[in-house]
Amino acid sequence: MLLIKCPYCEEERPELEFRNAGEAHLVRANPIIEQSDDDFAGFLYFRQNPKGLQFERWRHIHGCGRFFNAVRDSVSDKFLTVYKAGEPRPDVSKLLSPAAAETEPPVTKRPRAKKVQV
Ligand SMILES: [Zn+2]
Repeated sequence: MLLIKCPYCEEERPELEFRNAGEAHLVRANPIIEQSDDDFAGFLYFRQNPKGLQFERWRHIHGCGRFFNAVRDSVSDKFLTVYKAGEPRPDVSKLLSPAAAETEPPVTKRPRAKKVQV
């Protein structure tokens, strides 16, 4: 069973407690009356559906009931991170390799080969 961590409850709970609420970080034009019909239809109906990492909106419907955002890999169905609604998008490059982003690679020195007299 897939476990999802709610950023408000700060617990991992079964996926059955959650509901996907579509693409995250959608911004409605302001004022909306100045938007063309085609642009408004695009905002209302058309969503990205990339293969791989997606920014999604989720709701903890059988818990706190709050909306939050998540970065999920649509191929592996793995959640890379969750964050509260209103927070900025996390840096995906740090999520993919957090160890590489936080620390420099260790410097290793190869021992020098000894010269052999013949
Ligand atoms: Zn919750």
